[in-house]
Amino acid sequence: MRQPLYGPEQAQGIWVYLEQQGGQLEGVSLELLAKARELADETSAELTGVLLGDGVKALAKDAGAHGVNRVFVAEDPELEQYRTAPYARVVAGLVAKHKPDIFLLGATPDGRDLAGRLAVRLRTGLTADCTNLALEDGTGLLLGEVTGFGGGILATIKCEQHRPQMATVRPGVFAAGAPDESRKASIRRVKVALAPEDSRVEVLERVIEEGVDLTRSKVIVAGGRGTRGDFSLLEELAELLDGDVGATRVAVDEGWIGRDRQIGQTGFATRPALAIVCGISGAMHFTVGVEKAETVIAINSDPEAEIFEHADYGVADDLFKVLKPLVDEIKQAQAK
Ligand SMILES: Cc1cc2nc3c(=O)[nH]c(=O)nc-3n(C[C@H](O)[C@H](O)[C@H](O)COP(=O)(O)OP(=O)(O)OC[C@H]3O[C@@H](n4cnc5c(N)ncnc54)[C@H](O)[C@@H]3O)c2cc1C
Repeated sequence: MRQPLYGPEQAQGIWVYLEQQGGQLEGVSLELLAKARELADETSAELTGVLLGDGVKALAKDAGAHGVNRVFVAEDPELEQYRTAPYARVVAGLVAKHKPDIFLLGATPDGRDLAGRLAVRLRTGLTADCTNLALEDGTGLLLGEVTGFGGGILATIKCEQHRPQMATVRPGVFAAGAPDESRKASIRRVKVALAPEDSRVEVLERVIEEGVDLTRSKVIVAGGRGTRGDFSLLEELAELLDGDVGATRVAVDEGWIGRDRQIGQTGFATRPALAIVCGISGAMHFTVGVEKAETVIAINSDPEAEIFEHADYGVADDLFKVLKPLVDEIKQAQAK
């Protein structure tokens, strides 16, 4: 690996990339701030936010209410829409100058894109798609937990010599804290100096895909291969419980349901109060996406299925036989 830009002895503080969209901070940024605040308190480190855009300064106040001590704000018309080159130049410049120890970004499409470019430019490592973060006892090194080698293991990755220690975390992994308006961040304006080549890519149109946001769902009824593509009872149950339908990757790949419904390592990390998982075997790739649910009920016809190891309650039976009377019963109860 190439020489680091700077090493542990020069590094200090925890940084969070504050992703914004349509005049609001992304949910994942608030979730990261909650976790980063916890890590910063453990080590008495300063917590810094990095905010880029055009006319976004007001959002620094929101970040302050979520526990940031200081926010670097870079505003420029060229930064109005996310584009890799100008964003990477501004953020890499800030990192090289101020030398953070840890830098966290949301694993959104833009966050992933930026993190990869930054890691190369800053000559450091990147632990992508973490399912948890912690600090190592004794060394204080950032430990990023990821599912690895086909999902059979949970790996903990650390970056010993290169700085910043970078990680991306998917939406829904951590819970956002409540804002406290009495907390204020100091705001540092950043002078934006871009190069002509940063503007080579022009954004012609930005299309936001409509879909369900499973990271915010309170109740999820999820289906896998065991549904054989028939999600009708799951949909009915989800509606009765004011919840949303989720799925395994198998169900999505089969084309039975949209990709916005996929739970798991390459889908969404959810944290509902209740997850009812039907006809799902319990592969780790899936279970990492429901492990933060308060209560998991599994329905699987195979009594030996792995999913029962991850459930609070289990029904070893045909899902259709279980769901039909359950739906009827809830309908009757709600009609009273
Ligand atoms: C790199 C990588 C990333 C991945 N990412 C994800 C991810 O994000 N999300 C994800 O879900 N998967 C992911 N996968 C796939 C994952 O490993 C599993 O293959 C997948 O989760 C299995 O889906 P399933 O449980 O629907 O199907 P299966 O494993 O085939 O299980 C079907 C289950 O249904 C039960 N069943 C059958 N009929 C019935 C019935 N009538 N009533 C009740 N139960 C019944 C069976 O007993 C069985 O346990 C990933 C894989 C890789 C390699």
